[in-house]
Amino acid sequence: MTELVKITDLGKQYNQQEVLKAISFSIMDGELFSILGPNGAGKSTLISLILGLTKPDTGDILFEGVKLDSDSIQHKSMISVVFQNSILDSDLSVRENLFLRAYFYTNNWKEAKKLAKEKLADVQASHLLDKRYGVLSGGERRKVDIARALLNTPKLLFLDEPTTGLDISSRAEMWRLIHQLKEKYSMTIVLTTHYMEEARDSDNILMLDGGKVMAYDAPEMLKQTYQCLTLEDVFLAIIEKGRENYECISL
Ligand code: ADP
Repeated sequence: MTELVKITDLGKQYNQQEVLKAISFSIMDGELFSILGPNGAGKSTLISLILGLTKPDTGDILFEGVKLDSDSIQHKSMISVVFQNSILDSDLSVRENLFLRAYFYTNNWKEAKKLAKEKLADVQASHLLDKRYGVLSGGERRKVDIARALLNTPKLLFLDEPTTGLDISSRAEMWRLIHQLKEKYSMTIVLTTHYMEEARDSDNILMLDGGKVMAYDAPEMLKQTYQCLTLEDVFLAIIEKGRENYECISL
C-alpha cells in the first residue's frame, strides 16, 4: 500500500488552547482508518485540517506527496465528506437533491441522472429516489448523504460518526455498506466513531485524547500491546491509564 496522506507534527491552537499537539501519522491508500477519541479530543479539528477547511499552526499535511494548501481545488476534488449535519435540502426529493448535485459535476442532465442513480444503487437506496429527503429515517438519510458524497468518485471519503444515532441493525447495515464501498471503489475511508468495537475491522486506528495521539496501530496489535480482549478495554486502558486500579482483562 502507498501513502495517501502523511501528517507530520501537526499542531493547532484555538484561543491559546492547544487543540492538536504535534500529531504525526499516515493514512495508506485503500485502507479503512478509524479515528477514536472522547468528546473534545480534537477529532473534528483534525478532519477540518485534512480537508483544508482550517489552517494548521505547525506541521505539514502531504496528500500523495504534495503539500496541502487550503485553496487547492485539485486536492478538494479528491476528497468527499459526510458530516453529521447533512447539506441536502429537506424539502426536495432524493432525486432532485442528487440530480442537481450530479449536474454540478457532469454539466449534462442525462449523465447527471445516470450518475445519481448509479451512486444511489451503490448504497442500496434506489427505492428512495422519489421520497422527500426530509421524511427519511436516520439510516436512510445517511445512505443518501453517502451517495451524494460518492458523486465525484473521491479517492478519500470521510465519514463523521456514520453510525451515531442509528439503531443496531441500521448500524450493522452501515458497516456492511462501508466495507462494500471500500472494495468496489478501492477507496480510502476515514471515519470517526464513539463505538470502539465498531472499529475492530479497520485496517488502522488512531486514538486521540487531549489533542495527542494516544495510540496508532492495527486493532489486533493494539489488543496485543495492551493485553486487552476488546478495543473498548484498550481505549479505557489508554485514556484512563493514570486512574488507579485500572487493569485490562489479561489475554
Ligand atoms: P472532537 O471532535 O474530538 O469532539 P474538537 O476538535 O471538536 O474535538 O474540539 C477539540 C477542542 O477544540 C475542544 O476543546 C473545542 O472546544 C475546541 N475547539 C474546536 N473548534 C474550535 C473553534 N472553532 N474555536 C475555539 N475552540 C474550538
